[in-house]
Amino acid sequence: MINIVLFGPPGSGKGTQAQNLIEKFNLKQISTGDLFRHNIKNETELGTLAKSYMDKGELVPDQVTIDMLVDELKKPTQAAGFIFDGFPRTAKQTEALETIVQDVLGDKIDLCLALVVEDETLVGRLLKRGETSGRSDDADEGIIRNRIKEYYAKTAEVAELYKQQGKYVEVNGVGEISEISEKLYAEIEKIK
Ligand code: ADP
Repeated sequence: MINIVLFGPPGSGKGTQAQNLIEKFNLKQISTGDLFRHNIKNETELGTLAKSYMDKGELVPDQVTIDMLVDELKKPTQAAGFIFDGFPRTAKQTEALETIVQDVLGDKIDLCLALVVEDETLVGRLLKRGETSGRSDDADEGIIRNRIKEYYAKTAEVAELYKQQGKYVEVNGVGEISEISEKLYAEIEKIK
């Protein structure tokens, strides 16, 4: 299996690139943001809880997010591996992911691919996405800036953990979508 963490701040293009990677390598994407939005749409208890954090641009509590991820990972799949998009977002989630992948799949995380984009570009992209996405967390610049703040406060340290394990690679997230994909493909080919 190939198990990849796709990493980067909000608006760095994780979702877009994940789409290309799943096709190229027959992977299954697990996006915690998408899973939360699915729960919000279906008005589940988990959705109501998640929404109260997401609408402020804050992270949903770790244990709630981890439990949801475990449920998703247990679903049978024919995929050749996983892309984790939007998870892990804290040090605690990073440790949990290692354990979960080991326990559920008998496997490990191979690589953390980080998309690098500077903050003002992120804000611009997210405001633009908000014009059409219907996402309440994209509609307001204050919420967007808070998401970026949360990223530096809680999520940036995830990169350090993968660096220590020698699994961290940065790719410039600005440019043509296909060019960025090619760079990501090349990094995955190296570890195959
Ligand atoms: P983006 O990467 O564009 O910020 P996501 O769809 O990944 O968007 O996440 C949207 C929101 O969902 C986050 O701001 C956060 O509130 C919540 N969320 C997603 N993943 C996690 C996670 N791993 N831990 C905690 N909260 C999360």
